[in-house]
Amino acid sequence: MKKEEIKLDWVYPLKKKILFGILAILTLSIIATMVFIAAMLRESLLDDSKSKTQELSHAIETTLSSLMLMRNPDMMQGAMENIGKNNHSITMAFILDRTGRIAYSSDRKGIGQVLDRHAENSCHGCHRHPAAGPHEETTIIERNGMKVHRNVKVIYNEEACFGCHPRSERINGKLIIDRSLNGTYALITKIELLIFSAGMLCIALIIPFLSRVLSRGVNKYIDEIIRQNYELKLLYLLMERLSKTIDFEELRTTVFEILKETLAPDEIHMVFHRSYGEYRMATWTGERDEIARSKIVQGEPLSLVINKWLEGSLNEQEISPDNRLIYVPIQKSDRSLALIIIKKKDEPFDLQRLGLMQIMSSHISVAFENALLYHLAITDELTSIFAQRHFRTSIDKKFLEFEKYGTKLSLLMLDIDDFKKINDTYGHMVGDSVLRDTARSIMFSIRENDLAFRYGGEEFTVILPSTGFTGAKLVAERIRRNLEEHVFEEGTINLHITVSIGASTCPDNAKTAKDLILAADESLYQAKRNGKNNVVVSERRP
Ligand code: GH3
Ligand code: MG
Ligand code: MG
Repeated sequence: MKKEEIKLDWVYPLKKKILFGILAILTLSIIATMVFIAAMLRESLLDDSKSKTQELSHAIETTLSSLMLMRNPDMMQGAMENIGKNNHSITMAFILDRTGRIAYSSDRKGIGQVLDRHAENSCHGCHRHPAAGPHEETTIIERNGMKVHRNVKVIYNEEACFGCHPRSERINGKLIIDRSLNGTYALITKIELLIFSAGMLCIALIIPFLSRVLSRGVNKYIDEIIRQNYELKLLYLLMERLSKTIDFEELRTTVFEILKETLAPDEIHMVFHRSYGEYRMATWTGERDEIARSKIVQGEPLSLVINKWLEGSLNEQEISPDNRLIYVPIQKSDRSLALIIIKKKDEPFDLQRLGLMQIMSSHISVAFENALLYHLAITDELTSIFAQRHFRTSIDKKFLEFEKYGTKLSLLMLDIDDFKKINDTYGHMVGDSVLRDTARSIMFSIRENDLAFRYGGEEFTVILPSTGFTGAKLVAERIRRNLEEHVFEEGTINLHITVSIGASTCPDNAKTAKDLILAADESLYQAKRNGKNNVVVSERRP
């Protein structure tokens, strides 16, 4: 399984939605901030203009008050005209008398006109609610299509006015000035344009940049999700594959395959205990892509690790300082089952994979333990070859293969001649030892693909896959001769034994596994009847 095969269809749309959401919120925030800043600036600029208008009005009032006391209309009018000329921002300045008529004006033409007294707010103070009205008010109005700040100020003056106004308010008239807001509004427009441009620039620059940074950040998490998902699926497949195999050799091959796929190494060594201090090792190399028996020369760096493991001091997964060699002891309840050494030549291992290796090794341990238990179950305790209970399943399996591939299949049945005498003469201990050595001799006489079983007390069977009757006869003869020539209990009793062998072949003698066994059995008895120490090939017709 490859990492690319992990499909997480939901992750990328989710990522898009999250990114879109974050960026949309950010854009809206920038726009809202822009609007807020613009509004604040607008307000403070107008406030500033308002206070300037009021200051101006106050300054003018001070100048005019003294002139009013002199009661010189020409001087008053002259002063008003000067105010208009000297203050460019003032579009109009005039004084109303108490009948609402313009008495003095910066523009001479307006004099004598009666102003709608209720149009300017300050009148409300006096004429509707005499006690409460404001004596100065500044509002924005439109005049001749232009926005102006109009400041209306009640001017207090002399006692002659008391007939109309209360004594406390010595009002003479009102000073009204209109100050143009053209400049202020032009400034507001400029600033708003500037803020808008800055905001747009911000959005145009920050959003793509942020989207890239965020996308990269989110991708890291997605990669992590994919990695974990991949490892989980890998573990699942691994467990599935390991659980399918119970045969030790098959399991070994499966483990090699799994390690090749998950870690992409250049070399894998699998070391197993043989007898005390000894080991056997199988090696796979990427160059040849095959599993073969191998041996490490003493003194090589790997032999040090293997020795450490044999001594029982390597109990946990280790990695070499250059991260190119991983040592994985396969243990089950403190019992060391195997040592796996994984090597990379050109580049170091991805350290993230070490955790995965740790989990894998515990699954491999369980599988090896099961295989070991299975091995014990199918192995005869005395002779260490297959036990009788494994014979039946093996012959059925080999028979199916024979039917499938059409190659021949032979079976040998072997019985030690006069074994009872050995027991009776030398005792059961010697009898047991003879049985062990007989099994060893049989194993020595057959090929790797052939399967030998202890069938009963001193009876053995050998399944010979892909073998016709000539081959079967040859192997049987070899077994018989090797046993005949072998000296048992050499140096003490110097015992010799002989065996009788019956051989049968599919399809020549039988069409079923059961008949194949029957035919071999018949031949064995024929061999016994022939006088023992000989081979009889079945002549049975199926
Ligand atoms: P034949 O040539 O006709 O086969 O004669 P035999 O004596 O070999 O045959 P028989 O069946 O009479 O004797 C088999 C003996 O094998 C009987 C039994 O005590 C012995 N035997 C069976 N299993 C074991 C075992 O596990 N250990 C030992 N020492 N002897 C065993
Ligand atoms: Mg017997
Ligand atoms: Mg016998």
